[in-house]
Amino acid sequence: MKSKLIDNYGRIAKKLRVSVTDRCNMRCGYCMPKNNTKWFDSTEVLSFEEIIRLSSIFANLGVEKIRITGGEPLVRPLIENLIKSIAKIPHIKSIGLTTNGLLFSDKVKKLKSSGLNSVNISLDSFKEDRFKMMTGTNGLGKVISSIQKARDVGFDVKINTVVVRGWNDDEVVEFANFARHTGITVRFIEFMPLDGTGIWRSDLVFSKKEMIEKLESGIGEVSPVLEQEISAPAKLYSFSDGIGTVGFIPSVTEPFCNQCDRIRLTSDGRFLTCLFENPGYDIKSYLRRGASDEELSQCLIHCMAMKQEGIVSLIRINGLKPKLNLMHTIGG
Ligand code: SAM
Ligand code: SF4
Repeated sequence: MKSKLIDNYGRIAKKLRVSVTDRCNMRCGYCMPKNNTKWFDSTEVLSFEEIIRLSSIFANLGVEKIRITGGEPLVRPLIENLIKSIAKIPHIKSIGLTTNGLLFSDKVKKLKSSGLNSVNISLDSFKEDRFKMMTGTNGLGKVISSIQKARDVGFDVKINTVVVRGWNDDEVVEFANFARHTGITVRFIEFMPLDGTGIWRSDLVFSKKEMIEKLESGIGEVSPVLEQEISAPAKLYSFSDGIGTVGFIPSVTEPFCNQCDRIRLTSDGRFLTCLFENPGYDIKSYLRRGASDEELSQCLIHCMAMKQEGIVSLIRINGLKPKLNLMHTIGG
């Protein structure tokens, strides 16, 4: 399938992230607005039929991989049915899910038979009290068991860990040891200014460089994995003894915009060519006004062409400030 989603800098969109809800059963401090969460009205949220139609159009334009995210995607009833339908779309090579893991183990069999290929489970601490502080829930045991079950049934599993200075940066070595013991890749994510409460400050960002320093003093030398997908957001590193792989998503200190091949569909039906784009393009209204597949395709191609060079140019337009966009409405 020849890709038609190309921007003016020559970047081609091959991966689509679909946020299926802005709602969540956790309250992560770096993501959800504190107290006053105003959810999208259910009429504003794309139906499964609308998501499937748009996903097929994206696939015809060259998208090969789709990741289902949220909010928490598993709070949306019958999500496995949506995954099943997306899995049947021609040209889609893989479907992933990003989840906080709270409801995952209850659904694992249905998800496995739906055609889902990979699961990224978010986990920021191995300490009960800290897990509660960071996520607003007591679910550490459930998340750990979800990770185990995801592996047991044969999913490709990765862990996402947002590292916030003073919150959990002292657990970086423990997470890397977890990666070494289990063989599961842990991806450390720098705290991005996309939280709903507006707590982001640059000094809360614990950088990739600092994480590597911790790993090297706590475990041993790390070096970049030689063969890795150039466009993947995580830069993978291995330890000199060959045991364990960790990844870094250094969106703040080393933005990787020139290699970006991702686009996003929010649960309220906006097309984002960049995580930092605001407000994006209201594709839902166009679809609900009766646009044909061809008209929707032309619209997406046009929006894609206007993709900004990267976070640097978007910061020039919007400023790097908290609440620039709300992560729980986009899904990472
Ligand atoms: N609820 C699911 C979860 O937590 O995995 C999916 C949605 S969540 C928005 C997707 C990913 O974004 C998670 O791994 C989460 O840790 C990460 N995330 C949320 N807010 C972030 C922020 N301000 N900076 C960096 N990563 C963030
Ligand atoms: Fe929910 Fe995921 Fe945001 Fe945490 S990071 S509040 S689990 S959407």
